[in-house]
Amino acid sequence: MLSSCIFRTLRDGLRALPVTLFSLLMLGGIVQSVHASEVNIYSHRQQFLLQPFLDAFTAETGIKTNVVYASKGLAQRLQAEGEASPADVILTVDIARLGEYADLDLLAPVSSDILNANIPAHLRATDGRWFAFSTRARIVVTSKERVADGAIKDFEDLADPQWQGRICTRQGSHVYNRALMASIIAAHGEAAATEWGKALVANLARRPQGNDRAQAKAIFEGQCDIGIMNHYYFGKMMFGDKPEQRDWANAIRLVFTNQENRGAHVNISGGGVAKHSPNRDAAVQFLEFLTQTTAQQLYGEINFEYPANPSVDPGGVLQSWGSFNRDELNIEKLSELAPSAQMIIDRIGW
Ligand code: FE
Repeated sequence: MLSSCIFRTLRDGLRALPVTLFSLLMLGGIVQSVHASEVNIYSHRQQFLLQPFLDAFTAETGIKTNVVYASKGLAQRLQAEGEASPADVILTVDIARLGEYADLDLLAPVSSDILNANIPAHLRATDGRWFAFSTRARIVVTSKERVADGAIKDFEDLADPQWQGRICTRQGSHVYNRALMASIIAAHGEAAATEWGKALVANLARRPQGNDRAQAKAIFEGQCDIGIMNHYYFGKMMFGDKPEQRDWANAIRLVFTNQENRGAHVNISGGGVAKHSPNRDAAVQFLEFLTQTTAQQLYGEINFEYPANPSVDPGGVLQSWGSFNRDELNIEKLSELAPSAQMIIDRIGW
């Protein structure tokens, strides 16, 4: 039997080999591991996040898990492996990435009463090829000292010339911002979204740079007064093990936007069953497990993400942050509009 550790060691050791040889070697190892009580997971999500889910799943079902962790290249690997792929489950973040897997025909349609009952229709693929497991709001953050409470309510407000030279963001082409732009297109159309983007770029205090947390740092340091961030980074900064990041978190106010109109723009983490899954029943069982209370609350406890299952209350800290309205746009739309969003982002130089 192949442990996930050996799985990773193999991967790391063989990274330099051509992909075909690599796949043959992987296949040799995996064939021995395929039996009814295992599930092989290809994950873009990091180990610290996934491990508690795997432990809980194995404890509950007796099904063992093997994981390949990688931030990039898993889709290419699945393509190269083809029908011989050992992968049962794909886990990733962002609807655009799930959409890519679906477009490349790497996911199998799943019909499960449990999944359909637990995950609202707007947070899963119409054809059952992927499902959301958690939601993450993209929010505006403002300086507690230099921006009045309530001065910004909607993403649209970032286009107001009164904020000239006061906004910081990461690059527009990052998937988080591309999905945000897609949500603006969905709400207002391409022409208005282009105008919004131009005005936002005109208000930037500096060239787009850094990750989401770097925008909070820039506000703390006084380089700008307003940023855009995924909500869970606030939790990671406030409760993580880096004291300097607590200062960044304390400098900002969270604005869950668009509460009086379409609701906050949300994205998802999610996954699906691999097209050639050799352990399909176990794979579906794993997805179902991820949508039930224990796992749904783990998303909040480990990474401050909201449950995708609306009948599960977020636990702990998230509960104390209160509730907010979400944009219930079919999340598939964000992936459909991603190419148009990218074109606008390139055109406006975000
Ligand atoms: Fe993130």
